[in-house]
Amino acid sequence: MHDDLIPFNKPFFVGKELFNIAQAVLNGTIAGDGEFTRRCQAWLEQHLGTPKALLTHSCTAALEMSAILAGVGPGDEVIMPSFTFVSTANAFVLRGATPVFVDIRPDTLNIDERQVAEAITAKTKAIVAVHYAGQPCAMNALREIARNHGLMLIEDAAQAILSGDRGSSLGTLGDLGCLSFHETKNVISGEGGALLINNPELIERAEIIWQKGTNRKAFMRGETSKYTWVDIGSSFLPSELTAAFLYAQLEHAKRINSHRRTLYLKYFELLAPLAEQGHIKLPALAQDKPANAHLFYILCRDANERQALIAHLDSAGISAVFHYVPLHDSPAGFRYARAHGKLQVTTEIANTLLRLPMFSEMTTAEIRRVCGEIDVFFKITSKQPCELS
Ligand SMILES: *Cc1c(COP(=O)(O)O)cnc(C)c1O
Repeated sequence: MHDDLIPFNKPFFVGKELFNIAQAVLNGTIAGDGEFTRRCQAWLEQHLGTPKALLTHSCTAALEMSAILAGVGPGDEVIMPSFTFVSTANAFVLRGATPVFVDIRPDTLNIDERQVAEAITAKTKAIVAVHYAGQPCAMNALREIARNHGLMLIEDAAQAILSGDRGSSLGTLGDLGCLSFHETKNVISGEGGALLINNPELIERAEIIWQKGTNRKAFMRGETSKYTWVDIGSSFLPSELTAAFLYAQLEHAKRINSHRRTLYLKYFELLAPLAEQGHIKLPALAQDKPANAHLFYILCRDANERQALIAHLDSAGISAVFHYVPLHDSPAGFRYARAHGKLQVTTEIANTLLRLPMFSEMTTAEIRRVCGEIDVFFKITSKQPCELS
């Protein structure tokens, strides 16, 4: 029955999106950098705590702006995890720089800060910290490494809206932070993102890059008499229609995250017995640290068991997926990047991690059904006699 399907993700609407879009249309400007863009940027600056936020059409765009601001080019290296989405690396490859992949930690699945220090060479220009599942990277250690070596620190906080580390919001701790409002994230606008410019020295150039390499911002403020081409850049800004949609979501961001945390804790509670029996592993972090509950994952014993579990859930109308194919092991990764060390944790996690359905409208009854089916799967498989070799 169609009603019984539990999708992996489902975009969530708070209700006021279309009203805001109508307002944007009535305001008379629907290009970028209008009233709703300013409201969203002010919201981000105020609620996250950064001197400057610029809306972008995606987190990918924010990462690309970061790569330009980092000033990297051919011959330069940028250290980042291999266990991440392609845009983290692509942004720097587009500038001609070489991503250097280091392994992740088995507890947070975030970049291993000790290996970052080891991977630094004379060519290293920047570090990208990806906050997987909204869990903070070891930012104090990474900030110290960046400071000691004169490197730019960029946060890929695509999954981390309103997640914190000791009272500071993720995305505000590096020189630059990149957020995503893609429809698979917690707070959405279809496609969308933001660049948080935490280092004030980068603000002026960021505004120029954002406006296609022109001094339009300074011109509009009356700071210069000519509107002209002054630097490289691109069209990184979203239209007001996107910003209007996003503003409705931002106003409910805290409520969205708190519901997701309830779902996360339910998963944790209901799957604990299977973890105790050794069938699966749960996220290693304490149960009381769901961060912004962007996603919920379990670790299977091996890739075959994961495949069988995905098939079992699928036959019960439940969609569960895995990610990432590690970038160091991808066709473009071989061509454009290099790996530091063996990346054993990355390989192990990529083979065993399974993401369970998680979306803002999900109910605890649906969580119960997913966990019930996982239970059924292990009851069936553990009854089968061991194969003799
Ligand atoms: C989603 C995601 C991105 C890309 O975000 P877009 O807004 O779709 O460009 C980049 N990095 C990470 C870690 C992500 O999860």
